[in-house]
Amino acid sequence: MQSITRRWLRSSLLISALVLVLAEGLFLSFLYQDLYGGVENSILNRFSALTGRLQATGTAGDADGTANSRAQALRRAVEQFDEKDKFEFMLLDQSGAVLATASGMSNDNLAQGDDFYRALTSAAGVGQAIFRTRDGERVMAVTALVPYAAGQIAAMRLVTSLTVVDRQWWGMVWISAGVVLAALGLMLWSGLFFIRSIVRPLGQVEATARRIAGGDLQTRLPDTRYNDEIGRLCRTINEMAEHLTETERMKNEFISSVSHELRTPLTSIKGWVETIGALRDPGDPNYRKGLEVIGAEADRLYGMVEELLDFSRLQNGIRLDCQVLDLVAEATDAALFLEGRLQQEGLRLVYEEPPEPYPVWADPARLRQVFVNVLDNAVKYSPPGGSIFLTLTRTPSTVTVAVRDQGRGIPPEDLDKVRQKFFKGRNAVRGSGIGLAVVDSIVTALGGTTRIASTLGQGTTVSITLPLYHPGQEHLHEPI
Ligand code: ADP
Repeated sequence: MQSITRRWLRSSLLISALVLVLAEGLFLSFLYQDLYGGVENSILNRFSALTGRLQATGTAGDADGTANSRAQALRRAVEQFDEKDKFEFMLLDQSGAVLATASGMSNDNLAQGDDFYRALTSAAGVGQAIFRTRDGERVMAVTALVPYAAGQIAAMRLVTSLTVVDRQWWGMVWISAGVVLAALGLMLWSGLFFIRSIVRPLGQVEATARRIAGGDLQTRLPDTRYNDEIGRLCRTINEMAEHLTETERMKNEFISSVSHELRTPLTSIKGWVETIGALRDPGDPNYRKGLEVIGAEADRLYGMVEELLDFSRLQNGIRLDCQVLDLVAEATDAALFLEGRLQQEGLRLVYEEPPEPYPVWADPARLRQVFVNVLDNAVKYSPPGGSIFLTLTRTPSTVTVAVRDQGRGIPPEDLDKVRQKFFKGRNAVRGSGIGLAVVDSIVTALGGTTRIASTLGQGTTVSITLPLYHPGQEHLHEPI
């Protein structure tokens, strides 16, 4: 379970963190450009205003005179410089030595910075440097070469303190880092909260499923308030446990009822064997009666063992050994087989044998079982004197066997369940509740369908539809 959290941390959160850090980096680099580039630009603007004025100075006179008047103009500009509180304005000679400063001080403090050399080497004649003065103050110095001859003056230099800009810069760095950290923290918190809402119930599901797998069928998952995949998974697991419990209960009931029922005929057989053994005269009427009872009880036992076999087939899957059969002949056989019982119970079978054969691809023993189970139910639930109708109809591709009785019918709420293993309706007479389950699984295995229609108090119709045999079907429908 830990791994979902780790996977999320690794994939989603890591990527988001990278994107955020990248965005932060971009933002800061733009901000840096904006702040420090802004300072440099404001200095350059002042330089270009000055050079503009220099260009206009002394254009008419001789070259030296012009150079001198430019030098004078520059010195005057330095003297009259009115932004002394913000900038230090200097004039430099060809070697970079200071000729004049606006503050009037020689200002060694600002001597460092290789902006002058950068200006000398740059194509535009401008150089910039950021450095710390001896007093420890960070400053920006920009030097621009004077583009005209101006006596000794070779360059102008403006130096400004970066204290305010630095403060702005670091303020923004901390604020934006705080925003990024807060965003990451929020993502982590909401993500973990969300993941926990998945991981926790999943852990519960896992533990409960393990308990169910271990045989504890009573355990259930608590109802979740979510109606999402997790909620549905919880409900499905609860339904599965419910279903397993029910099947387990019905199976146990079946086994205990069959074992009880086995004891009755065995006791009777044992009793009669002792009675016959004590008889000396084979002509004694009890001798015959005893043999008859033993025969009848053996039949009952046989039926029960068949039922047990059905049960094991249902558990292990039905094996089919198919061949081409005539469904009409099979139905007629089943009708004949039933005759004795019908007479005993005072019932009538209405069966009109179709004149032509209806070939199907089926296992004869299993098909017989289908007929026996359905007809047996019809007999069991018919009122005395009632009729049972056995009808065979065909379409070009299918054949349908319908068994209708006039019995008590199946309550509508049970109709869907009668095909389940071990299900016994509220109207059930006797039996273990696997007859129709066996019918349904055999018919399904043969590629057919079973339909059950019933009206309470009027009767029930069980219709079984199988595909008509056509050559090649054996390959489509391999025995399973
Ligand atoms: P069993 O083997 O005990 O007969 P089935 O699976 O054949 O069990 O039938 C399940 C339930 O369906 C029966 O307990 C009964 O309630 C109902 N049932 C089946 N056939 C009929 C019928 N012909 N008429 C009324 N109820 C029926």
